[in-house]
Amino acid sequence: MEKEAGLSPDSTVYDMRIYNTLTKRVEEFVPNVEGKVAMYTCGPTVYHFAHIGNLRSYICEDLLEKTLRYIGYDVKRVMNITDVGHLSSDADTGEDKMLKGAKREHKTVMEIAKFYTDAFFSDCKKLNIKTPDVVEPATNCIAEFIHMIGVLLEKGYAYKAGENIYFDTSKLKEYYVFGNQNEDELMVGVRDDVTEDTNKKNKNDFVLWFTKSKFEDQALKWDSPWGMGYPGWHIECSCISMKHLGEYMDIHCGGVDNIFPHHTNEIAQSESYLGHKWCNYWFHVHHLNDKDGKISKSKGTILTVSVLEEKGYDPLVYRFFCLQSHYRKPLEFSFDALDNANTAYQKLKKRCLDIKAEAAKSLGGDASKAAANIPGDEKAAYEKFIEDFKAALENDINTSMATTLCYDVLKAEISPVTKLALIESFDTVLGLDLTVEKEEAAPTVDAELEKYITEQIELRKAAKKEKNFAEADRIRAELLQKGVALEDTREGVKWHLV
Ligand code: AMP
Ligand code: ZN
Repeated sequence: MEKEAGLSPDSTVYDMRIYNTLTKRVEEFVPNVEGKVAMYTCGPTVYHFAHIGNLRSYICEDLLEKTLRYIGYDVKRVMNITDVGHLSSDADTGEDKMLKGAKREHKTVMEIAKFYTDAFFSDCKKLNIKTPDVVEPATNCIAEFIHMIGVLLEKGYAYKAGENIYFDTSKLKEYYVFGNQNEDELMVGVRDDVTEDTNKKNKNDFVLWFTKSKFEDQALKWDSPWGMGYPGWHIECSCISMKHLGEYMDIHCGGVDNIFPHHTNEIAQSESYLGHKWCNYWFHVHHLNDKDGKISKSKGTILTVSVLEEKGYDPLVYRFFCLQSHYRKPLEFSFDALDNANTAYQKLKKRCLDIKAEAAKSLGGDASKAAANIPGDEKAAYEKFIEDFKAALENDINTSMATTLCYDVLKAEISPVTKLALIESFDTVLGLDLTVEKEEAAPTVDAELEKYITEQIELRKAAKKEKNFAEADRIRAELLQKGVALEDTREGVKWHLV
């Protein structure tokens, strides 16, 4: 259940501190415009289901966004959908991911994109990840890409070779803006199937626009001043963010594997195009690993939200699991660890629901009025807890500390009403549905079952007409076993689910 973050009592005092990959320090967060945050998130490549590693990044980014809103910022968050041009090596070599998905499933690239975009947002919903204010597929912005590439060519930051347009990294004073990564870190983003492109002038040059690549059968192509082709991956995030957030951005997010080459290349082309600094803070979420290393789609069975559900876990148990560790630390996933999180989550939720029931009793049965009914002598205690909660999150998104405060509230010497108001306030950021009773799904009847019931009723009618009451009773009993009760009324036979 999605709720708006933002019950902060004093929404004008900001004290946010955040680790910035650009400076390698935890810094005070100061946006360009007071009170407003322009935030960008690298969205999914929609060629397959998101795995739970991808979703760790989106959960942590959601916590960042909700924290900013909670402490009073007006946030505009933009996310792209990579539905074209993401090659599996991230270095403009390797196989095109979208094409790979389409071939695998015998569908068109756009069918694949639609299906996996919907699947992504359905997973996000189950994990209480808020949909960004703007979601823009790359295929919507071809004109913007062409414009930016044109300017980069004009300014001498790009060149044509082998009929592709490349960004010339040798034109920059500093290309490795994220600094002192070692070679291993730099290679994180360079995945499988890397073959050197002989058109490039410099090793790190990257493609802005392809007209000739090894994917001549590319399904999606657009006309451009340089011929029919398609954009490189990195250009999309620069253009989509500028389209919706303008020339200055406050915070840009992604997983650590995006630092190089993707974010490094985004900065190179954006700042060359703009002629000034583009984004001040870079927020990177560390990887979810299993015992064999980083969880990825190329590793056989993909661990998805559906797999967790099939195994009987509430997806929010995975969110709770992520909240227990810090986003800047690698997190090791195992089902044993998830089981522990499940036990802890169910216990915490039960305690919260018990408090809700107690609070409801003192509120004439209506627990929704807790926040408005905090007893006067508990207002200070309430404010103090809110301050502590804000302080935990303002300290570089310390989610485990913020979660621990739920236990402190439950133990505190305050009324159930105040406890409930606090837990509900915290949950606007934590997103754990701690006070939301799981709705019992109403039993439904699919078309096939309905057809079967109608047929059986007709057969029973015929049996009765032939005075074969044993058969009529057998049909009634068999339906009952399937959860369908029959009722003989003056208007005919009626049925309902039991
Ligand atoms: P992709 O759909 O491959 O572009 O990835 C979507 C997001 O998931 C990006 O921000 C990646 O950096 C991030 N990501 C990929 N693998 C992992 C992982 N194992 N753990 C956490 N984040 C990941
Ligand atoms: Zn991006």
